[in-house]
Amino acid sequence: MVQPRPEEPDQSGASALQPASALIHHPYQPPPGFDVLPPGVFKASTVFFPNVAALRARQWKDKSGYTYGLHGTPTTFTLEERIASLEGGAHCLLCPSGLAALALVNLACLQAGDEVLLPDNAYGPSKELVRAELQSWGIAHRIYDPMQPTDLEAQIGPATRLVWLEVPGSVTLEYPDLPALMRVLQAANVGRSRPIVSALDHTWGAGIAFCGFDFGVDVVLQALTKYPSGGADVLMGSVVTRDAALHQRLLHTHMRLGLGVGANDAELVLRGLHTLHLRYHAQDASTRALAHWMQQQRGVAQVWHPALPGSPGHAHWQRDARAAACLFTVLWQPHIRPEQIDAFCDRLRLFRIGYSWGGPISLCMPYDMPAMRNSPWPQTPQAAYGPRLVRLAVGLEAQPDLQADLAQALAALDD
Ligand SMILES: *Cc1c(COP(=O)(O)O)cnc(C)c1O
Repeated sequence: MVQPRPEEPDQSGASALQPASALIHHPYQPPPGFDVLPPGVFKASTVFFPNVAALRARQWKDKSGYTYGLHGTPTTFTLEERIASLEGGAHCLLCPSGLAALALVNLACLQAGDEVLLPDNAYGPSKELVRAELQSWGIAHRIYDPMQPTDLEAQIGPATRLVWLEVPGSVTLEYPDLPALMRVLQAANVGRSRPIVSALDHTWGAGIAFCGFDFGVDVVLQALTKYPSGGADVLMGSVVTRDAALHQRLLHTHMRLGLGVGANDAELVLRGLHTLHLRYHAQDASTRALAHWMQQQRGVAQVWHPALPGSPGHAHWQRDARAAACLFTVLWQPHIRPEQIDAFCDRLRLFRIGYSWGGPISLCMPYDMPAMRNSPWPQTPQAAYGPRLVRLAVGLEAQPDLQADLAQALAALDD
């Protein structure tokens, strides 16, 4: 199942380097005589053509030329190449947010009468997009239990054209058996005239924890808003493929929808990439220590983090991933009241209440499990813990400070 990594254009020997080095030493060529590390920041709407013949001849779809700011600049082309290489893919498209990237893949792969499948623990706005928007355009959806490959098999029908995968699940972080899910898709595609496209939301893995293409996935998407930016100051999404025909399909939809990104935002992500590897692993180490500690605190029923034994799908994570992101989820004992859980969040000082993650600052967010799920799952017995859970995102602060913050906030359970 493992596919070879495509040849990368390479003048620097970058592909032979380990990921941390390849994120810094890469094939970007600065303008002659200005040999510097940061890629140039080029901004434009209009691009001039020397004459009409050049206008008619110029091509942007293969990145051989520039025609209009929306179709790419040297800065966005550089970032696309960097992200494609990070993900182990060949082609990349940038979108103004992670959610816009999700919408792009749906719109490029689906038409009226088609059906899309999502895991029940998919990123919430992704479910909302299919429920509220795609439905009104005659595109149906079904929800599958990602922890049961047989359920995916049961949900695939003749109209299924696109299957979303998320590893691990949003908020609750159950780690699915990705090879088993891919085997179901590969079997379903045998003899199918229009094969089902598989699309992975790889925001959690950030191109570091594992390579989505190694598992045979067709499209690998990331919210660059999270780790690659790393600054909590930019919104962006990426859509990476290895298949040239699939990329062209996505590229045309991308162009028709006008999904360009600005050079200043691209610059921030390019800068973030230099420290991505270091940040990912530092946050991983800190998160594991805090998740392990949190599990032993009174009032806590379970902590879900793929690297913790006992967390749903831990064995899959252990087999399939090299690292883990900065998230863990606390499930509370049933006697802890929802108001006490909210008070715990309110008492935190370093963990701020807010959406997103992957930036320098630690964040917390309460969620109500039943509201997120289409169906209760057998592997998540509700009796063992209350319905309100807290997702914590660990930033770059010193881990003892974060642990002390969690410890003082736990006093809220005594009130
Ligand atoms: C944040 C996130 C997105 C969306 O990214 P935005 O840039 O905030 O739109 C998509 N998928 C996952 C898993 C995310 O965590």
